Amino acid sequence: MDPLMSEDELMIQSTVREFADRDLKPRARESDEKEEFCWESWKGMSDLGLSGIGIDPAFGGGGGTHRQMVVAIEEVSRGDASAAVSLIAHRCLGLQTIYQFGSEEQKSRYVPLAAKGEQIMAWALTEPGSGSDAAALQTSAVRRNDSYYLNGTKVFTTNGDIADGIVVFASHDRELKHRGISAFIVDRSTSGLRINKQHGKMGMRGSTTAEISFENAKIPVENLIGVEGSGFSYAMDILDSSRIVIAAQCVGIAQAAFESAVRYAQQRQTFGRPISDHQAIQFALADMATDIFASRSMTLLAATLEDQGSPYLEEAAMAKLYASEACFRVATKAVQIHGGYGYFKESDVERYFRDARVTSIYEGTSEVQRIVIGRQVVERYRV
Ligand SMILES: Cc1cc2nc3c(=O)[nH]c(=O)nc-3n(C[C@H](O)[C@H](O)[C@H](O)COP(=O)(O)OP(=O)(O)OC[C@H]3O[C@@H](n4cnc5c(N)ncnc54)[C@H](O)[C@@H]3O)c2cc1C
Repeated sequence: MDPLMSEDELMIQSTVREFADRDLKPRARESDEKEEFCWESWKGMSDLGLSGIGIDPAFGGGGGTHRQMVVAIEEVSRGDASAAVSLIAHRCLGLQTIYQFGSEEQKSRYVPLAAKGEQIMAWALTEPGSGSDAAALQTSAVRRNDSYYLNGTKVFTTNGDIADGIVVFASHDRELKHRGISAFIVDRSTSGLRINKQHGKMGMRGSTTAEISFENAKIPVENLIGVEGSGFSYAMDILDSSRIVIAAQCVGIAQAAFESAVRYAQQRQTFGRPISDHQAIQFALADMATDIFASRSMTLLAATLEDQGSPYLEEAAMAKLYASEACFRVATKAVQIHGGYGYFKESDVERYFRDARVTSIYEGTSEVQRIVIGRQVVERYRV
């Protein structure tokens, strides 16, 4: 038994692991190949309570801590990283923004259905001309009487084409830069909304990504989240926390790649013995295991700080930076250990390798994490 995990965390780990092995992993290859969201996997995750993990039972969720969330996300990701990113965009981005910053009325309207997985949420910050520099977004929100009218385009919105509700960030005054940005809940049925699925991703192909255009999309004022002009700070708060969850996703992908590699290395023979007997292969496996141990420890520590209500910004950025880059290192080594077979789609490691690549790009690139960490350390050691 892991001495640092509570009984509850171990229970969640074994329940989600069993579910992921039984229901997610067998479907992952097909949804990757077809570039299709898997509704059966979504239903399974919802039935298990994952769509509402961490949400107060009074709002239809199952409750739970951030640590429990990262334990669950690691296991989902070990089974199917695409299912995990769909879940993260729903639970930790879209739903979380409404749950954390929405009014009581908004929460009672959206949270219970979303927590049960009966509605899917998405979160649209990125635009064609602004990703890392999110405050430069161009989508406008003009208020007339009891409505806001949104105009502009969002890209790369995970779940965008399947979501019932989308949290959208738009500016009512671009002169004010980040202070002019507000967050809105946009229902799928809103007129003036055009949603196009974006095809051709390298990895995470079982998750769905969309471009969303707004042409005078009329949003009732009741759908403004929180205070006008506070949307950017809400978005940054959400990203600070969800970085830890992405780090957990990375641990899950790396763990899956490692397990494939360590098994294969004992089955594949060269020069009369299993390749796992060659020291070079053992060294690769040792580096992979060490990377996973470090990533998991950092992720759990960052989640523990968040649960305690302690500052966690720097630790979350470090966990995301380290775990995402480690995940790609581990997946690369897993392909190498599989030799030529690892280069073909019949081996799961080919998919892990492609899935791993985006983790140091989305929810803040590695460069952005280094900016966050760099600012903190310079400030701390200021002379
Ligand atoms: C599969 C997928 C799913 C996504 N899901 C969502 C979603 O659900 N919602 C959403 O809003 N967005 C989503 N995104 C968008 C994602 O968060 C952005 O792609 C990411 O933030 C990077 O923005 P960008 O692509 O515009 O790159 P850019 O910001 O243009 O950056 C390009 C490169 O320049 C580097 N760079 C930028 N600024 C600096 C700097 N100051 N110093 C050093 N280097 C710098 C970056 O690190 C990067 O390497 C998703 C993206 C992908 C690929």
